[in-house]
Amino acid sequence: MIYLKTREEIEIMRESALMVSRTLGLIAKEVKPGVKPIYLDKLAEEYIRDNGGVPAFKGYKSHNGAPDFPATLCISINEAVVHGIPTDKPLNEGDIISVDCGVKKNGFFGDHAYTFAVGEIKPEVRQLLDVTKESLYKGIEQMVSGNRVGDISYAIQQHVKKQGYGIVEDLVGHGLGRNLHEDPQIPNYGRRSDGPKLSEGMVFAIEPMINMGKKGIKLLKDGWTFVTVDGMPSAHFEHDVAIVNGKPEILSSYAYIEEALALNK
Ligand code: MG
Ligand code: MG
Repeated sequence: MIYLKTREEIEIMRESALMVSRTLGLIAKEVKPGVKPIYLDKLAEEYIRDNGGVPAFKGYKSHNGAPDFPATLCISINEAVVHGIPTDKPLNEGDIISVDCGVKKNGFFGDHAYTFAVGEIKPEVRQLLDVTKESLYKGIEQMVSGNRVGDISYAIQQHVKKQGYGIVEDLVGHGLGRNLHEDPQIPNYGRRSDGPKLSEGMVFAIEPMINMGKKGIKLLKDGWTFVTVDGMPSAHFEHDVAIVNGKPEILSSYAYIEEALALNK
């Protein structure tokens, strides 16, 4: 069942989404060679708790018998697609790191992600990041009343397909609200005019996960981290989007990240 949100609820959700955006902005300032992912995680947790939020991923129950997720951020490096556990292994020049963060505040969730470059990265990896981010916005454009979930999926797929990248099929975007994962599922591939119809008050986390090589992924022994089967890099961008007045309104924001990245240069 898809839960529709009132305007008031959407405003509360914007606050949760923006708390994640500000957290990622803070992380953006710190992503550089030599930094330990667990340090980034500590910063994020402190910031969220200091601002009256609760980290949504920490303690998240596994479906496969693995221990509960131990951290505030999912940090997925290079061939890791999503759900990576932050470690104390320092970042290296040329890495890419996908940082996904979830927050619960006032009973509603925010869930939003960005893939960062660590120092200089290869042009072909930069292109993977750019195309994945562009595909997110192509999908968001389709989040219009009267369209269907498949229109979002198809737009993402069409944009990514041109590059020959692999689209992760086993993991998908989702509805968002009082639960971190609600109906409907939002695959990053699909057919136009397929799936549930979109209407006013829907809020989705749209999140293309795109591999430079083949689409296949596998789960590591830690029970959380998904990596590409071929070992090629993978990118992940996610926004929280509501339908307001029939049109998509992005509740999260990359402005904090982009401001921090511009200062780092
Ligand atoms: Mg996420
Ligand atoms: Mg999500």
